[in-house]
Amino acid sequence: MRLGEQTKAVHSGEFPNPVTGASAPDIVMSTTFVTKADTAFSVESMDENNGWIYTRWGNPTIHQLEEKLAALEEAETAVAFSSGMAAITALLFHLLHAGDHAVVSDVAYAALSELTNELIPALNIEITKVDMSDTDAVKAALQPNTRLVYIETPCNPLLRLTDIAAVAAIAHGVGAKLIVDSTFATPIATKPLLLDADFVIHSLTKYAGGHGDALGGVVLGRKDDLASLRKKTAIRFGGTLSPFNAWLILRGLATLPLRMRVHQENAFQIAAFLAQHPQVKRVIYPGLPSHPQYDLARRQMKNFSGILTFQVANGKETARRLAEKLKIIHYAVSLGHHRSLIFYLESKELFETTFKFSTQKQLDSWNTFAGEGIFRLSVGLEDAEDLIADLEQALNVCSPASPSGFSTHSVAKEKQ
Ligand SMILES: *Cc1c(COP(=O)(O)O)cnc(C)c1O
Repeated sequence: MRLGEQTKAVHSGEFPNPVTGASAPDIVMSTTFVTKADTAFSVESMDENNGWIYTRWGNPTIHQLEEKLAALEEAETAVAFSSGMAAITALLFHLLHAGDHAVVSDVAYAALSELTNELIPALNIEITKVDMSDTDAVKAALQPNTRLVYIETPCNPLLRLTDIAAVAAIAHGVGAKLIVDSTFATPIATKPLLLDADFVIHSLTKYAGGHGDALGGVVLGRKDDLASLRKKTAIRFGGTLSPFNAWLILRGLATLPLRMRVHQENAFQIAAFLAQHPQVKRVIYPGLPSHPQYDLARRQMKNFSGILTFQVANGKETARRLAEKLKIIHYAVSLGHHRSLIFYLESKELFETTFKFSTQKQLDSWNTFAGEGIFRLSVGLEDAEDLIADLEQALNVCSPASPSGFSTHSVAKEKQ
């Protein structure tokens, strides 16, 4: 039976406990399970039909989460991890060996970017960083030993998009696998496996969990690929998700389609407010015709998600003011939570620590999207009017209640 997204979000992977009849999933915290005497001791001879053995190998609650995620992503199967980065490292180390080459998005999640700047090249694995919105550049970067192409769409923090089907065809032309980090899009917007990607990654810490209270990650893909990944790196590296976090994320996923609808609605309203604000120079949101890749966004995303970026004239100073004056929106990293979160990313600083561009064209693309720096706003599920009022009072330098340069904090201090 083909189920709708919201029905899958509620029911897939879950079933009433056959002993107690409990309708909600159990949290199985046991690290070990009573097994038969002929159970294999090494993961080398692990047999999927053996039942549960040890939670690092597999666990009933984590399994329920993996099944729900696979249903939502229309994947054959999934392996869950303790964080998005644990998922990414297990997959990269599963696929890459000394002498291999990988093509990686030149702008991507910071920890992945930094890992591929130093640690992985030091293992004699060559990395080429490419602007993945430029398919000619992707083609030009491929080599006979290219094992994988790694993209994020929309990418963090630029919200620049990659045409998944086009890059999949290019990668497969040399026998390379395509990995898509789809954290920003979620399965509600885009299903990369249906566009020919080989692996999908999510940081479950973000929209999937959705409440900012559990780290988690997942790799989704074909059964054969993931059975081997589970044995070779997932179980041995040991980035195992806690069953308690699996349960929290299961519960979060039940409302994912509903939440994504509200994230998008709110993001549209806030984007419209920011676009007309005199202090805001530029707003980037994939749902707006002003996004440089609006046509691709409409073709590839069924939902434009809840993250937008904007630029102002004096980013650093505005960041200080917002951190101090915002009352509802939290000035904090991360994204995809029910709470709205905002953070300022300064371009100069990121070039030194994270993004090392090798061509002027790459730098030009960054500047097109980000200029000197951007505010990344993860629009939450609060009432849009309240979020707008909060941004309005914090952005407004000349508000009579709080003249520029004076915060209620510093006024209170001076009086003491
Ligand atoms: C947060 C994030 C990650 C890393 O996930 P963690 O759960 O923090 O380890 C990876 N990719 C993207 C796009 C992210 O936003």
